[in-house]
Amino acid sequence: MYTLNKLPYSYDALEPYIDAATLEVHYGKHHQGYVNKLNAALEGHEELASKPIEELLRDLSTVPEDIRAAVRNNGGGAYNHTLYWESMRAGTEAAPTGALGDGIAKIFGGYDAFKEAFTKAALGVFGSGWAWLVKGDGGLEIIQTPNQDSPVSAGETPLLGVDVWEHAYYLKYQNRRDEYLKNWWNVVNWDEVANRFAA
Ligand code: MN
Repeated sequence: MYTLNKLPYSYDALEPYIDAATLEVHYGKHHQGYVNKLNAALEGHEELASKPIEELLRDLSTVPEDIRAAVRNNGGGAYNHTLYWESMRAGTEAAPTGALGDGIAKIFGGYDAFKEAFTKAALGVFGSGWAWLVKGDGGLEIIQTPNQDSPVSAGETPLLGVDVWEHAYYLKYQNRRDEYLKNWWNVVNWDEVANRFAA
């Protein structure tokens, strides 16, 4: 059985950028829902359920066809949200430093240019999905995934992800995804992203 990872801060920790009401429902209902549905899909498949979610997502072809979509959607949802929570922290906006900062400067032309490109990708997701900074064969890259698809399933290593499903921002920002994204930069945990980059 998979369990919901503990939230690394309180529901109101990311105020005023991410409001407590959104965080509570997003974590306690949506994220929990993905975990529950993943467990339900894997009932009777103990050999799969004993693996880390990441491993299932990395090679979805090893998952039986009748539960593959459920594992892709709910396993992806479970995994992506854990990464999302860990990629945020209380405080004000910081910029990436060290090797990650250098990499971002080299590939994107600096932090501001990176933010602009990442925000454009996040705004450009049609419907529900995610924008990501990933580390792949080609170095640092910005990608989008639809629904709860995880970069892991595309062979990429996700470093930073932003959830642009409406459930991530609708209570506070309604349809204003751009305002959510503008505020979200304040809570990005660049130390955590740098740790993933170095791993
Ligand atoms: Mn979400």
